[in-house]
Amino acid sequence: MSVWSDMPMGPADPILGLTDAFNKDTDPRKVSLGVGAYRGDNGKPVVLDSVKKAEQLVLDKAMNHEYAGIAGVPEFTKLSLAFAYGKDSSALKENRVAAVQTLSGTGACRVAGELFARFRGEGSAIYVPNPTWGNHIPIFKNAGLEVKKYRYYDPNTVGLDFEGLLSDVQVADDESVFLLHACAHNPTGVDPTRDQWAELSKLMKAKKHIPFFDCAYQGFASGNAEKDAWAIRRFVDDGHSVALAQSFAKNFGLYGERIGALSVVCNDPDEAARVSSQLKIVIRPMYSNPPVYGARLVTEILSDDALSLEWSGECKAMADRIISMRTSLQGHLEALKSTRSWDHITSQIGMFCFTGLTREEVLKIRKDSHIYFTEDGRISMAGITSSNVEYVAQSIFAVTG
Ligand code: PLP
Repeated sequence: MSVWSDMPMGPADPILGLTDAFNKDTDPRKVSLGVGAYRGDNGKPVVLDSVKKAEQLVLDKAMNHEYAGIAGVPEFTKLSLAFAYGKDSSALKENRVAAVQTLSGTGACRVAGELFARFRGEGSAIYVPNPTWGNHIPIFKNAGLEVKKYRYYDPNTVGLDFEGLLSDVQVADDESVFLLHACAHNPTGVDPTRDQWAELSKLMKAKKHIPFFDCAYQGFASGNAEKDAWAIRRFVDDGHSVALAQSFAKNFGLYGERIGALSVVCNDPDEAARVSSQLKIVIRPMYSNPPVYGARLVTEILSDDALSLEWSGECKAMADRIISMRTSLQGHLEALKSTRSWDHITSQIGMFCFTGLTREEVLKIRKDSHIYFTEDGRISMAGITSSNVEYVAQSIFAVTG
């Protein structure tokens, strides 16, 4: 008998729990399409050459292991901001962006949630798209916010419900926080067009809403990091006080290094200094200060033109491999004379494909074919390779016809 004897078993995480189930499966045909982590065409994790070179540079510098400050490694945050907002961003030139290094994108979301709960009020609303990345909901709830959903995805068109989105933005109380996926929306792979972003920005401005961009896939959507930052930059140009969560997990392949940033665009440097001070007050009792290794790697890459260029090419190659797997998966399903339309596989962008498969179909594919993906029908395209794509198509076809 211990104090923990009555502790109930908690449910497995809907995404990470899948990896455990996959690892336990002994069937040789098994395929893991759950977690959004890039794999090469050999199905193995990839370390980018630009990252390997950065690792060598860091090693050569024989740096010490002192603590970073609460806000992290300053060179990293500076480069990270230029990466998202653009080297010529007037907000950066005017020194009015508050920023801290965070524990990847998840940590950035959590710190932002805490900041909103403190300064917008405990229990105040954050609007997230329906659907959204599953972890957003507990992150913001645990930070003390009320999570509300705005319309985003229309299953009938397998596209954006733009009218629904605008109408929900319109009816929300003024000055509400709206979480927006900067690009490559997870899980749907459906993004607004540039015209739609511009219209949304205008309406959010009129409503004085606070746009909070979650940018976990910069470079992964189009293969071009500058293009993928378009919506963020447009909102800043339109005068919004944007908040931004950045992750370098997917685009730099630095998943386990937990490297990201949170920033808030302010009116002037004085306001930015005050926001910065409060971010540090949130962070200090939470984890004190972030790890330095990932920050050093990203700093080496983004501060060196040749390495940055090499990284861009590698990022584009990852995006291109995913695009070619989309074409291949759709092609195999069509060749099987599937009765369903699979056009959305190639029209969606980013790491995921929101297949439209029902929960029952997902579970049947898992049981019959040992292919693991989330119950909402989302598959990580990054796990599809030229060796398993035909098997995945056949397995989908076997339950959908
Ligand atoms: N935001 C979105 C939309 C994501 O899809 C993810 C990862 O899947 C994250 C944030 C956070 O990822 P990480 O904490 O690994 O940077």
